[in-house]
Amino acid sequence: MADLQSVLIDLDGRHDVHLAELDRYVSIPSVSSEDRGVREAADHIRGRAAAWGLETRLLETGGQPAVLLRGPQVDGAPRVLIYGHYDVQPAGSADDWLFEPFKTTVHGGRIYGRGTADNKGQHLAHLLAIESWIRLHGSAPCNVTLLLDGEEEVGSPNLADLVRRNAGLLACDLVVWSDGPVHESGRATMNFGVRGIVQFELIAQGAAVDLHSGNWGGVGRNPAWELVHLLASMKNDRGLITIDGFTDEVIPLSGAEARALEALPVDDEQLAALSIGLWDEPAERPFYDRLAAHPTLTISRFETGSSGADRAVIPATARAVCDVRLVDAMTADTTFGRIADHVRRHAPNVRCTLRGAMEPSRTDLDSAFVEPIRRALRLVHNEDPYLVPAMGGSLPDYVFTKILGVPSIGVPFANADEANHAPNENIELHRYLAAPKIAAALLSELSKVRVR
Ligand SMILES: [Zn+2]
Repeated sequence: MADLQSVLIDLDGRHDVHLAELDRYVSIPSVSSEDRGVREAADHIRGRAAAWGLETRLLETGGQPAVLLRGPQVDGAPRVLIYGHYDVQPAGSADDWLFEPFKTTVHGGRIYGRGTADNKGQHLAHLLAIESWIRLHGSAPCNVTLLLDGEEEVGSPNLADLVRRNAGLLACDLVVWSDGPVHESGRATMNFGVRGIVQFELIAQGAAVDLHSGNWGGVGRNPAWELVHLLASMKNDRGLITIDGFTDEVIPLSGAEARALEALPVDDEQLAALSIGLWDEPAERPFYDRLAAHPTLTISRFETGSSGADRAVIPATARAVCDVRLVDAMTADTTFGRIADHVRRHAPNVRCTLRGAMEPSRTDLDSAFVEPIRRALRLVHNEDPYLVPAMGGSLPDYVFTKILGVPSIGVPFANADEANHAPNENIELHRYLAAPKIAAALLSELSKVRVR
């Protein structure tokens, strides 16, 4: 505890350094989607980490490299792998920004700049905590490795392969990632998983050309109706997905997960602002249950007929793009297989094509690492964090839970209105300055877990 206190005091005395380090990092526009500045940012953060006493290496992939940073070895202590990403989204039009996007500006209690929250500021906070531990005590209290992805903003296409190839190097007891925001209420949050996704396309083909709906109406087959019937056979008006076996693998919520979901407050103001008056069926399902405990089937696009004119024709084709959000322990493969079977049985003329997939992830709320992280958050924030069993969206968290086979817990540092991916991305100043303290306390608390 004495060790941690000295680190916390040290971190509190270095706000200027922490702001300067973030500014230098943000000033390198590492935009992976434009292949711009990514290696420069990788070199920069390697250089900083090496100066702070970490071992560094570059892990090449088929695309942008990942950066691996490793603190001094601590025999017998847990091995913690911290995941983050050093690439950023493009800034878009500079006119939409209050300040220059690729530098930091402190204004009104926030630090503005691309990457301040997503994700340079968040993983830098971990690194600054480790720096302080090493400078004051020779090492962090845990064996700590940072894996910094250079392609997160383009969907981490090489991450699964990289983790498989480097499983020995990445071997750990726990993964911690700090990305995205805390709960909208502002309270600290721990995330225990994400939903996966299967995206697919359905194409129904009619005649070779659009047909006059009078001259051919009643004769020519209408692909739009074919798709409408097919889609209606997949989900009923009670909101239940009616594809055979669809939810067979779903593992129901544990008691701890159900209690955690019940404790999350629903943001009625946000619902009102978005005019979400009517919820999807089934009506009785609680808000967070919908996001964490159930798969979805969404029609995100439906197009047929010629665009631009309302002509009375039987269209030649109809096309729908749909996605399924998967919950644990559904798998992308099995799910798409069931969808394709369903299409073959109900509409054999419709072509069904897989467009993209990512597996879900889930970490047990009863993991031995949960209480230490809670204690670390309580120590800095003086309140209990919210626990989110699964986030609604999809991230490649499965590479840790399924490929490495370890628990993975998200401890986000950013505010809910961080405007990630948008103009004026920002992190609240007090959150950025508190983040290294949370990171330092987290390693101290995790070091008490007996792992071997
Ligand atoms: Zn992002």
